[in-house]
Amino acid sequence: MNKKEKLELLFKNFPSVGPTQAKRMVNFLLYQNQNYLKEMSDLILNLKNNISQCQICNIFFENKNLNEKLCKICSNEKRDYSKVLVVEKNVDVENIENFGVWDGIYFVLGRNLKINEQEKENLFNLNNLLQKSRLEVLSEITFALSVNPEGEKTKEYIINILKPYSEKYNFKINQLGRGLSLGSEIQYSDKITLLEAFKNIH
Ligand SMILES: [Zn+2]
Repeated sequence: MNKKEKLELLFKNFPSVGPTQAKRMVNFLLYQNQNYLKEMSDLILNLKNNISQCQICNIFFENKNLNEKLCKICSNEKRDYSKVLVVEKNVDVENIENFGVWDGIYFVLGRNLKINEQEKENLFNLNNLLQKSRLEVLSEITFALSVNPEGEKTKEYIINILKPYSEKYNFKINQLGRGLSLGSEIQYSDKITLLEAFKNIH
């Protein structure tokens, strides 16, 4: 595999990017000057500097001195730790927080499973969620993933793993109400839609 093909493969892993788009992106880069490529690769290389991943919810947060282990939400004692909302992306959290419709904590997957993806061990850092100390205080886990085939597949995969724990530790597995229509994403939802969906958690 040559460099161009390798890069295409990397782009293909991005959410919503297929082989044709990946080819186009690499082609676009070929036409850029060296400064552009250098700036882009430097930005990527330094993307994770001063950014930490929360050990409870997986959110990436700005951490100037790298001395904090938990994000603002998980370190806020007013949040209800017994309720966990499973979302796909950091921006979903931002959107839900903006509307103030959730007082529990989150678990961010980072992405959904792709339709033909092989399932591996400890995907999405699920082991973090399955620690005994956390399971013991859990009362409910609510799924707020996109209503599309990838979101459904991801939800089923995680529920299969959670089921035995939910019986042992006695917590409920819920999903957001019907407010969200087919194909809709939390990221783009308005306040009324979200309120409706959160009111009808079942
Ligand atoms: Zn957190």
